[in-house]
Amino acid sequence: MNSLPQKPGIGPQVPAPQTGSARASRVPTAHPLAAILDVLHRGERFLVCSHARPDGDAVGSMLALGMVIEQMGKRADLVTADRIPLQYRQLPGADAIRTMLRIHGPYDAAILLECDSLERTRLRGLEDRFLVNIDHHITGVEFAQVNWIDRSAVSVGEMVYELARAAGVVLTPQMAQCLYTTVLTDTGGFCYGNVRESTFALARELVRAGADPIAIAHEVYFSAPASRLLLLGAALRRLKREGRLAWLWVTHQDMQRTCATEEDSEGIVNVALGMAGVDAVVFLCELPDGRVRMSLRSKGRLNVATIAARLGGGGHQDAAGCTLDGSLPRALKEILGELRSAMANLKAKRSHQE
Ligand code: 5GP
Ligand code: MN
Repeated sequence: MNSLPQKPGIGPQVPAPQTGSARASRVPTAHPLAAILDVLHRGERFLVCSHARPDGDAVGSMLALGMVIEQMGKRADLVTADRIPLQYRQLPGADAIRTMLRIHGPYDAAILLECDSLERTRLRGLEDRFLVNIDHHITGVEFAQVNWIDRSAVSVGEMVYELARAAGVVLTPQMAQCLYTTVLTDTGGFCYGNVRESTFALARELVRAGADPIAIAHEVYFSAPASRLLLLGAALRRLKREGRLAWLWVTHQDMQRTCATEEDSEGIVNVALGMAGVDAVVFLCELPDGRVRMSLRSKGRLNVATIAARLGGGGHQDAAGCTLDGSLPRALKEILGELRSAMANLKAKRSHQE
């Protein structure tokens, strides 16, 4: 086990969190990481949560942060609104994450990972609590009392790693396993534009500390239930292409026919992005409540976060999403309108430069 070096310059410098304090009062601080450490040192009991439909970064970073807090001798309750997807249920401690829609009980602070608002958690009962926001999306928002948004981090897991270092806790193999999962999944298997040299240094550190990259890759990429592949087949039969744009979708009926859950639709968008000559892809999934969830991906030229944010969602330059009310044909028309005009703008910019 590695004992992580203490980061210099991080010390207590903010007032103690108060349960029930108003949301509007932000904590002024030189470095938000110092403020978060201070919150952790002063409190005893914390809530750790992330967004609805948790992904690898949400699950892995929640688990690792829970371990950091417990090593500090404090208590962390981990909560999500939706159940943990199958491929992340083998992660150490995953069975301790509770699925619920309303938070009860006293907490010194609620720590939200990967969220741009309380609404993104789909949890009730967070409203009047002392909130800490840790995020890495370019569309991140300072909605909490303490906000640490690092848009250069490949995953919130990378930020939790930094927090663990600053807290001086031991990086256990269990923590490393969870954090490696956040890096692998949020870089799309080390493929997205956010990957840098430091990403590999981090991955190396985590493997050294006990993460098993092969076991994690098998769990994430080679353990799909048949329903997931059948749903992928249904989506691929509908694959459309127009120049550098591609799109595909599944209806609620497809989901029923293939016995698929919403969780089975994760990753379909990445398969379509594999097509040569395509710069951007959108995948649409018709939800049983009459809304449509969209996943957007880009190979780097188009900023899909801007497009998702315009439709009420958010994300990263290369991977973003949103959910729209209304029918699937209407949602498709709306997103294609946005994507076509973004593509036309890109083309105009390019020919202007030539
Ligand atoms: P995915 O397409 O895999 O669901 O999401 C891709 C990225 O976009 C993730 O980083 C995810 O957090 C973000 N994202 C997806 N849907 C939403 C949304 O409705 N709101 C916000 N703010 N971000 C989203
Ligand atoms: Mn993330």
